[in-house]
Amino acid sequence: MSAIDNLPPLREVIASHQLSARKSLGQNFLLDLNLTAKIARQAGDLGDCDVLEIGPGPGGLTRGLLAQGARKVLAVEKDRRCIPALQDIAAAYPGRLEIIEGDALEIDAMAHLESPVRVAANLPYNVGTELLVRWLTPPTWPPFWQSLTLMFQREVAERIVAQPGSKTYGRLAILAQWRSEARIAMSLPPGAFTPPPKVSSAVVHLTALPEPRFPANAKTLERVVAAAFNQRRKMLRAALKGLAPDIEDRLLSVGLRPTDRAEQVPLEGFCALARSFDS
Ligand code: SAM
Repeated sequence: MSAIDNLPPLREVIASHQLSARKSLGQNFLLDLNLTAKIARQAGDLGDCDVLEIGPGPGGLTRGLLAQGARKVLAVEKDRRCIPALQDIAAAYPGRLEIIEGDALEIDAMAHLESPVRVAANLPYNVGTELLVRWLTPPTWPPFWQSLTLMFQREVAERIVAQPGSKTYGRLAILAQWRSEARIAMSLPPGAFTPPPKVSSAVVHLTALPEPRFPANAKTLERVVAAAFNQRRKMLRAALKGLAPDIEDRLLSVGLRPTDRAEQVPLEGFCALARSFDS
């Protein structure tokens, strides 16, 4: 029996279902159920929530989320080999775990969820960043989720919470902080995973704000920020000159110095610049 439920320890689950980790699927498993329960606690009060979990693998975090009292967990896993192990968990928590075998980048999870929804995941880096950007840029706000609790490589986590003036400040920080509260909730060394990855990891917790911190059109803001950071070493007037011939005047009119670089511009400045294109 394990530390948090009546199911077998994860090492046994992996051995009995022959779940050798596959690099192609970014599989670095969390096998310590005390740790997965701790990560699940970072997701907040789950009692009244459906939880979307992407990439449950053998189910360590899934079990943490269920033991933590999630109303329902929807687990989306691409690796068919993991499904029987997840079905064992579903049997131990009747009616509370729905499993979808598929690619999280392709399925419509919302069709299976009821509000309020929280998202929790330990995902491969590339899929995680792609999903994060999608979750941060829906057509309307507030989004379908109340919070996102996501494992990233430490370096990506730092980009999400970065402040102006730091080398890691860029598109991810702006998209994340414009409409949500983002913080690093936990740090994990490589040894917390099986097999251990090369770098440290961190859990980032994002809470959706009811409204953006500063008004702006999402598409325009994305366009301005993408252009500004695409050439981050250039001065703003050079990096952004493709957006408008009068970019220098435009920058001055919203209080930005044309000779500054993108990494020096606070969120408020990007939002003001985006508004200048829509007024
Ligand atoms: N959550 C488990 C844990 O913490 O031990 C597994 C984490 S492992 C880093 C990532 C998981 O995501 C793997 O189970 C992998 O098969 C799954 N995965 C990878 N790409 C995926 C995708 N596009 N859609 C759904 N699951 C995916």
